[in-house]
Amino acid sequence: MGILNVYDVSKIYKGDVSYTALSNIDLKINKGEFVGIMGPSGSGKTTLLNMISTIDTPTSGEVIIDGESPHQLPINQLALFRRRELGFVFQSFNLLNTLTVKENIILPLTLDGVPPQEMNQRVASIAGKLGITDILNKRTYEISGGQAQRTAIARAIIHNPTLLLADEPTGNLDSQSASDVMEQFSKLNKELGTTMMLVTHDAMAASYCDRIVFIKDGKLYNEIYCGDSRKVFYQKILDVLSLLGGRWNDFSAVRV
Ligand code: ADP
Ligand code: MG
Repeated sequence: MGILNVYDVSKIYKGDVSYTALSNIDLKINKGEFVGIMGPSGSGKTTLLNMISTIDTPTSGEVIIDGESPHQLPINQLALFRRRELGFVFQSFNLLNTLTVKENIILPLTLDGVPPQEMNQRVASIAGKLGITDILNKRTYEISGGQAQRTAIARAIIHNPTLLLADEPTGNLDSQSASDVMEQFSKLNKELGTTMMLVTHDAMAASYCDRIVFIKDGKLYNEIYCGDSRKVFYQKILDVLSLLGGRWNDFSAVRV
């Protein structure tokens, strides 16, 4: 059994016209893995992430995280499960701009009543790993995009989540900052052993993962593993993407 098991998950958005965004997805992620999800715009990547993060509910099928079925939990326990077991990183950083970097990072711990001394120790440790010690007392409008995303990663991982989920974490970054941020994910994955799953449309970002799962039209299409060479992996990813077809440039921010 993996740390994450997705069994036969389908999602139909019901409206005037119902739309099948995911069909019969099976996915297993083992403890410590770093998995990327790729697919053209509209293929169901965010929908899949939302099923796993319990932000939304599958129409059928099951999601099991660390042996638990979060979708079966009552709402108050679900909130607790999400806060304790999961970490989230978003494209838009989602930092609170009235708070300092440090205050943003410890926010999830204050909700859980962690003693101040322990909070300080944990911030110092994670900030050191992410290279943001010098900016801990800055406000979020005083830092760069790359620093903002590092801050968001620190916030997402400070409570030692079972599973870290990220949706297009490099989507708002220039290519150098994107590489830096991916280096950080990779480093934390190795040093802390945190299981990570990230959605991206960017082959460079994806090449930092151990495995890429491709989806197309809401169905699993293919998966490939990184061997010894990230360069070779990057090329393999590009090859699958060209076979996949579809529209990829769903972002207004043009990467340089
Ligand atoms: P991706 O993240 O791969 O770009 P999404 O998971 O966001 O794709 O969307 C997959 C499909 O489901 C798209 O066609 C999208 O328009 C549709 N969709 C997403 N969210 C909703 C919703 N809340 N209601 C109806 N359709 C949706
Ligand atoms: Mg998306």
